[in-house]
Amino acid sequence: MKTAVYPGSFDPVTLGHLDIVKRAAAMFDRLNVTVMVNTAKTPLFSTEERVKMLRDATSDIANVEVDSYHGLLIDYCREHDIRIAIRGLRAITDFEYELQIAQTNRELSHGELDTLFLTTDLRYSYLSSSTVREIASFGGDVSGCVPEFVVPMLYGKYDQNRK
Ligand code: ADP
Repeated sequence: MKTAVYPGSFDPVTLGHLDIVKRAAAMFDRLNVTVMVNTAKTPLFSTEERVKMLRDATSDIANVEVDSYHGLLIDYCREHDIRIAIRGLRAITDFEYELQIAQTNRELSHGELDTLFLTTDLRYSYLSSSTVREIASFGGDVSGCVPEFVVPMLYGKYDQNRK
């Protein structure tokens, strides 16, 4: 069985992420979408909230599993016997950062972990979780950027923070 992992922060999941999930899931027997816990960042949504959000958003795709991991991607992949990581590329600016991570992972895994890049659907090329958070923090319209059910969750977070 060919399994790949799509790791990320997903804070929150956007329609750009979901487009990558759908396309990657069609290429593999199974796709693990994994919320990587990054201790250097303070996320808006907790790990549990992000996992639940991703589960709800991908419930219609049978071969997608959602989980979370606190540690290095190469260790996650070793534990799950996964050799391919999926990453999305939006623009040339993503490339330098992504190339460095991909090469580091290949080096650290002694060539066992390869990274497969999918280019963004042009509709979502401008979309990032940080832009979505910023728009929502000022009460702007984020429908069309994230799944419908995520919209009130986002506004809820900022209302909560304002209290
Ligand atoms: P990270 O914090 O690790 O960058 P993200 O959750 O922001 O994680 O993104 C996970 C992956 O999804 C990254 O490879 C990123 O380039 C990709 N991605 C994010 N937004 C989009 C988008 N709009 N279209 C395609 N890929 C995207």
